[in-house]
Amino acid sequence: MKPVHALRLLIALTATALVPQAHAQRADAPDEERRFARARALLAESITDYARPIDERADRKVLAAIRSVPRHLFVPPAQQAESYADYPLPIGEDQTISQPSLVALMTHLLRPRPGDVILEVGTGSGYQAAVLSPLVARVYSIEIVEPLARQAAERLQRLGYANVEVRHGDGYAGWPEQAPFDGIIVTAGAPHVPRPLLDQLKPGGRMVIPVGPADGGQRLKLITKNAKGRTSERMIVPVRFVPLTRKVRG
Ligand code: SAH
Repeated sequence: MKPVHALRLLIALTATALVPQAHAQRADAPDEERRFARARALLAESITDYARPIDERADRKVLAAIRSVPRHLFVPPAQQAESYADYPLPIGEDQTISQPSLVALMTHLLRPRPGDVILEVGTGSGYQAAVLSPLVARVYSIEIVEPLARQAAERLQRLGYANVEVRHGDGYAGWPEQAPFDGIIVTAGAPHVPRPLLDQLKPGGRMVIPVGPADGGQRLKLITKNAKGRTSERMIVPVRFVPLTRKVRG
């Protein structure tokens, strides 16, 4: 095991141990929140090398966003104790929330700026949208599984992420009414880059998308569109995401 990985594992385990069980008494709530906040700070410290796959340094603003979003409130109660370890977790409906270091890398690849309007395909729990929220002007997020879309919309509103709008539907088609976008982030593995999403990307815009077969061999890709509207792509890292489906589930 490489030292950096050993350190990350140690911190993840420490963070997990620090986090109280989900069935803690209500009277302990402030204490519990403090411990979650500590675990969250440790997590942010443990993933400062998240941009190593692209030979870049971490963006402090991205790390600050990770430190600010209460990931334990985006996972089911049974997963809360593990919510500040750097690995993916189930969120119900056979879907998963990505590991924080990958959320950080994907956010970084978008190069979010304060005035940006971003489209996310695959809202899931709403965690990735919440991480983007403080970094940009607006996030539009589409989720194909209705209960997940509804829960994420409620959660984001309750937690005060007022610049995020969630819609239930097939994100393959994008969100034409709000296009074009400065950035598009797809958090489900697509067999190919959906044409409507390319069309809805602004000149100068960036798209981050896992592409490849559902049974393995996906690659995270960064697609950039130049001022003349020509696109080019760069392979970033091998990844494993749940598939981008075309079946709208009610
Ligand atoms: N970004 C999420 C995790 C995404 S998991 C988070 O931070 O929690 C991938 C999600 O993509 C799943 O919720 C899945 O239902 C959704 N999905 C799959 N195909 C889709 C499509 N065509 N349009 C919109 N969402 C889709």
